Amino acid sequence: MRVHQLGDGDPDVAVVAAVHGDEPCGERAVARLLADPPVVSRPVKLVVANELASDRDDRYVDEDLNRAFPGDPAATSHEARLAAALERELDGCTTLALHSTQSYGDPFALVDAVGEETGAICAALSIDAVVETGPFADGRLISYPRTVEVECGYQGSDSAADNAFRLVREFLGATGVLPASSTPRDVPVFRFTERVSKPAGREEYEVFAENFERVAEGETFAAADGDPWVAKEEFYPVLMSPYGYERVFGYAGERVGSVSAAGPGVSAGD
Ligand SMILES: [Zn+2]
Repeated sequence: MRVHQLGDGDPDVAVVAAVHGDEPCGERAVARLLADPPVVSRPVKLVVANELASDRDDRYVDEDLNRAFPGDPAATSHEARLAAALERELDGCTTLALHSTQSYGDPFALVDAVGEETGAICAALSIDAVVETGPFADGRLISYPRTVEVECGYQGSDSAADNAFRLVREFLGATGVLPASSTPRDVPVFRFTERVSKPAGREEYEVFAENFERVAEGETFAAADGDPWVAKEEFYPVLMSPYGYERVFGYAGERVGSVSAAGPGVSAGD
């Protein structure tokens, strides 16, 4: 783990890159910020979490860091030790964690549940959607309050790195580290309802649905070797892709409202 700091004092704002070693967008955004460091109004930590996995261009060394929290300083697993160290490093911080995906090209955010502070941050980010993970956040960094994860775009793409840099600037604007760089706006909020399982050992997987676009009851939204996967009831696909995960296509969600430029929390929506 590598920790940089802008500004003097003990930071209570943090940006975390490289939770996954094969998602370079966050590290590139941090490097870009450090190459031309802005003048800050309050101190901020910039953390490159899993340096070892990043050097190997692997997602992780022993286990997925983003399923390993709270971790254990005495564990044999690299990521279990790192999770414990990262938790200590981020204690008391309002945190933005940068990720990228195989399922969606534009940025969106994930939170455990939208709170007053995380809602205001999400309304300041140029994102398509906010996803509340609820009980599905088990072992993830966002199971901690005051933490927002952003998916910045396709893994390894230049656009994900550019998006990550813009999202970091917007986050630092929303937390008073930098002057605000965006005008808050309404962003739709979805909530995970279930994992959509995927059969193992097939040759070809397909996903026909678009993430965040409603799938109707009876619609064929995915296939495995041509066998159709049909929606039993309507849902909104989230993080859904043919090959992004080994055992699931992704998640089914419901639309629960919006975070609003007008105020904190989730307002009821369509
Ligand atoms: Zn990730």
